[in-house]
Amino acid sequence: CGIVAYIGYREACPIIIKGLRRLEYRGYDSAGVALLNGTLNVYKKKGKVQELENFIAEKDTHAHIGMGHTRWATHGEPNDSNAHPHYSTSERIAIIHNGIIENYAALKTHLQKQGHVFHSDTDTEVFVNLIEEIQKQNSCSLEEAVRLALHEVVGAYAIVVLSKDDPGQLIAARKGSPLVIGIGKDEFFLASDATPIIEYTNEVVYVNDYEIAVIRDGKLDIRTKEDVQQTPYIQKLELEL
Ligand code: GLU
Repeated sequence: CGIVAYIGYREACPIIIKGLRRLEYRGYDSAGVALLNGTLNVYKKKGKVQELENFIAEKDTHAHIGMGHTRWATHGEPNDSNAHPHYSTSERIAIIHNGIIENYAALKTHLQKQGHVFHSDTDTEVFVNLIEEIQKQNSCSLEEAVRLALHEVVGAYAIVVLSKDDPGQLIAARKGSPLVIGIGKDEFFLASDATPIIEYTNEVVYVNDYEIAVIRDGKLDIRTKEDVQQTPYIQKLELEL
């Protein structure tokens, strides 16, 4: 299971696919990408990253912001609809997630009563609908909605969230599952470990538990889930030549 995301001036999709290949060693049963380019497109497939590549070969994948996921199923069998990314009900927000949301069943019942519609058996789809519901109820920013959602979910996660309404922004958070941010020049990379990142930059920030990272306007902002701004600790990776 793995996560890769990109925001910058390059084409996002090839970087994401290459990154997913680098994370293949972690094991997975399906793979998918979400690309933000005015529209928010999700493409996903059961099976190898190669199957996903074949599937998107004929699609429009042009975007400078995107994210990709390899799934190791915990809730719901490995199939196309349970593969990540998952949309919220409005299809305006998409999420990728590594980990397990333990209280997803109670949250799902509650969200269904609010009118949310589910297309998968995953715990993850509950998370993205929770974010959407919180944003609607509070008329708040996506960042604030993600932050508040972290107070509701019990379990482990590394997540990346994209929204059609925030076309220049990428949000990530973690608790228990790893997440690394690579800092390039006018570009950022996110991944479960540094292997997809090292060919682009050797400056990385390891996101800590209960932290939320927001990348927009070429800047990285890291806060705790209590909304306290953190100074990112940038580490230099030793490159093996
Ligand atoms: N629990 C999620 C699922 O079953 C994420 C699994 C993973 O870490 O890949 O879809």
